[in-house]
Amino acid sequence: MNRAFDCGEIEAIAPVIDRDRCVGDSGCVAVCPHQVLALKAVAAHDCDGLPASTRFLLSLSQGLQAAVVAPECCRACGLCLAVCSQHAITLQVRNGDAE
Ligand code: SF4
Ligand code: SF4
Repeated sequence: MNRAFDCGEIEAIAPVIDRDRCVGDSGCVAVCPHQVLALKAVAAHDCDGLPASTRFLLSLSQGLQAAVVAPECCRACGLCLAVCSQHAITLQVRNGDAE
C-alpha cells in the first residue's frame, strides 16, 4: 500500500536519466523551469564500460546526453517526464549529488 505523499519530500526528489534511452535532443533541458538539467558531452573514457546500445545512442547524439546538474532545484513538476519521447527520465528520491 502506498503511504501518503508528504510535500516536504519534494526537495528530496530529483530526475534520473536512463543513459540507455537518452538521445540528447534537449527537450527536458528546454522545458525545466529550474535549470536542473543540461546537455553534457560524455567523455570518451566514460564510454568504455557502456553497453553497445548506449554507445550507439551517443554516436547519434554526437556524444551529448542529458545530465542532472542541479538536483537540489528540482520541484518534481514532471514537465521533463512529459516531454521526453524516449521515456528516459524518472523522478527518484535523491540520495546524493549531481551526476
Ligand atoms: S532525457 Fe529525454 S528529453 Fe532529455 S535529452 Fe534525453 S531523450 Fe531528450
Ligand atoms: S521534474 Fe520539473 S523541476 Fe524537476 S527536473 Fe523535471 S522539469 Fe525540472
